[in-house]
Amino acid sequence: MSKPQHALHFFNTLTRQKENFKPITKNEVRMYTCGPTVYDYAHIGNFRAFLFEDLLKRWLKYRGYKVTHVMNLTDVDDKTIKGSQTQHIPLKQYTEFYAKAFFEDAAILNIEPADYYPRATEHIQEMVSLIQTLLAKSYAYKGEDGSIYFAINKFPNYGKLSKIKTRDLKTGTRVKVDEYAKEEAQDFALWKAYTPEDGEVFWETPLGKGRPGWHVECSAMSMKYLGETFDIHCGGIDNMFPHHENEIAQSEAATGKQFVIYWLHNEHLQVEGQKMAKRFGNFYTLRDLLAKNCDPKVIRYLLLSTHYRQQFNFTFEGLEAAKGAIERLTNLMRRLKDSNGKGNGEKISQLIDKVQRCFGEAMDDDLNISVALASLFDFVRDVNNLLDNNELSKAEAEKVHALLTNFDNVLGVVGNVEVETLPQEGALLIEKREQARKAKDWKTADEIRQQLKALGIVVEDTAQGVRWRREKA
Ligand SMILES: [Zn+2]
Repeated sequence: MSKPQHALHFFNTLTRQKENFKPITKNEVRMYTCGPTVYDYAHIGNFRAFLFEDLLKRWLKYRGYKVTHVMNLTDVDDKTIKGSQTQHIPLKQYTEFYAKAFFEDAAILNIEPADYYPRATEHIQEMVSLIQTLLAKSYAYKGEDGSIYFAINKFPNYGKLSKIKTRDLKTGTRVKVDEYAKEEAQDFALWKAYTPEDGEVFWETPLGKGRPGWHVECSAMSMKYLGETFDIHCGGIDNMFPHHENEIAQSEAATGKQFVIYWLHNEHLQVEGQKMAKRFGNFYTLRDLLAKNCDPKVIRYLLLSTHYRQQFNFTFEGLEAAKGAIERLTNLMRRLKDSNGKGNGEKISQLIDKVQRCFGEAMDDDLNISVALASLFDFVRDVNNLLDNNELSKAEAEKVHALLTNFDNVLGVVGNVEVETLPQEGALLIEKREQARKAKDWKTADEIRQQLKALGIVVEDTAQGVRWRREKA
């Protein structure tokens, strides 16, 4: 008898429907997630998106898929240029600072690293070629300001993701800034001709002196690492328009192929019931919360525990509840280690079957985490009852422990996340070593390994990516 197949479903923003997930290549998933714009510390709204993507990736792996994950770093755009100029720091130095901060924060939140972290400034050539293709196919044109624009009326599918009505579009009028609203849908800049406001930031290319628009960055980098058509593209709902809509237009116009099969978007985050904004005094970066002594595992759990398509209300009360939940899990895992009871095979195997089925079915249903967690905590209560009555044998307890470890590989809140935070220096070195390895520069990679060792950090390259641990003194 063949094993029953799970049926993984995701809500696809493209069709506004829950769809059966079927990757292009059997057992493999290629996914792209819009990464941070490194002009400031990432805030908890950003981390809600990154944690949802981490949960998605971990669940795909739990279900046996090999996942190739690309997350870009936007290190040149309107915001980074403005930030570096305000602080009178060269762009590269300015963005490196926040890139490093991002990697530290992601490690603190136990987010599994992506396979590739391409930086926009290192892919100008790919963007130029993409724009050249669009020019050759007449989807793009040069404006009188010397910038190159995408002609949205040439692409009949424009609006298919955000569902804006194309007949209302103002075609022929242009928008050069990276961010704008749906009502302002116009021909958008692929390449921005140099103006003195750009200061030192420009590239001399066959397209002229200038810099890329934000949207073209993600099209060029995603297709370079994942191919012209890939399985999943994620991001916050606020990026659906114009960013993702424009990514589709650029990519599909250039290749004539479907760009992405499944688009997954997470909803906004609120704080204490209102929009998070500096002017409301409720704006938090991860660092702000750590400074208030919040445990990163608890923050992780809280941000994960609401379904990604629901608006999430971050509260300090919620953090307390999340802390309690992690303690219940951790305490049970500790208790299981000492269990040596009389055993009750039937009861425990029924409970194990049930939680595996319920947790699995819920997660397969578009990552329905609230239902999955409810079944997990029913299980925790039932096992505690068995332990209270001394009804769990050593072997049974080990089985339960292994099962909970599997679930925690998905949740990432108990495990060996002993708040082993990487020092800044270590995070940066690991990232540098990854870049060296991707460039097949084994000599540099080995030298960095030695430098890390001197800091007491051991790195291992596994099939799932690089892992680090502290060397026991
Ligand atoms: Zn993007």
